[in-house]
Amino acid sequence: MKVLVPVKRVVDYNVKVRVKSDQTGVETANVKMSMNPFDEIAVEEAVRLKEKGIATEIIAVSAGPTAAQEQIRTALAMGADRGILVEHDGTLEPIAVAKILQAIVAKESPQLVLLGKQAIDDDMNATGQMLAALLGWAQGTFASKLEVAGDSATVTREVDGGLETVTIKLPGIVTADLRLNEPRYASLPNIMKARKKPIDVMKPADLGVDPTPRLTVLKVEEPAKRIAGKKVASVQELVDKLRNEAKVI
Ligand code: AMP
Repeated sequence: MKVLVPVKRVVDYNVKVRVKSDQTGVETANVKMSMNPFDEIAVEEAVRLKEKGIATEIIAVSAGPTAAQEQIRTALAMGADRGILVEHDGTLEPIAVAKILQAIVAKESPQLVLLGKQAIDDDMNATGQMLAALLGWAQGTFASKLEVAGDSATVTREVDGGLETVTIKLPGIVTADLRLNEPRYASLPNIMKARKKPIDVMKPADLGVDPTPRLTVLKVEEPAKRIAGKKVASVQELVDKLRNEAKVI
């Protein structure tokens, strides 16, 4: 079974994000970039499926700038077999990424596309769902457990009220949530081996996709600064402040 794992290059989750002075977006120049954390979880799950003898080939695909090769190499070092880079500078909305993935699915015929539940930069949480709709495939989103048997997958989903278990027919789409697994660190020998694994490079136009954005970002702003807390000396003072200052009781 072939597994396709889309991996996005995003600002590293440890970086304190700063808004650009012209408010057109967030600063990415000279900022550490990494693979989206949920995509690392998706790669790990695919590698575990391969270790169990269920997956036969794992293809890591990224749409983005030339530098997104780094994230594909990370996936290859974790155990993916080959990579596809769809080169594009500039904004790629989920619909454009979903169409790119749809075209790659048509070429590669994977049985499973394992994405992250959301990219931590734009928090869209949309690409997997859009891809499922474009392909007409079943989807199991927010997976905290995945079991593949024959031509179906059982997905335990993290929903508001608890856990929901669904079975989907393959080929299908699964999106990884935080508790699905703990991704491995790539070992040095595997990082070296990954350098020799092939990465195909193409453009959206080669796949017949026009990635022109449909949304216009009006402005990006920092969240309002939080006001410092105050210590109160007694319950009476707290009640008094809640009643007369905050006016919440
Ligand atoms: P989003 O819908 O943007 O929150 O992203 C959900 C998931 O779609 C991510 O975790 C990735 O698996 C995949 N994805 C989104 N954008 C890209 C991209 N540019 N290249 C590869 N995969 C992507």
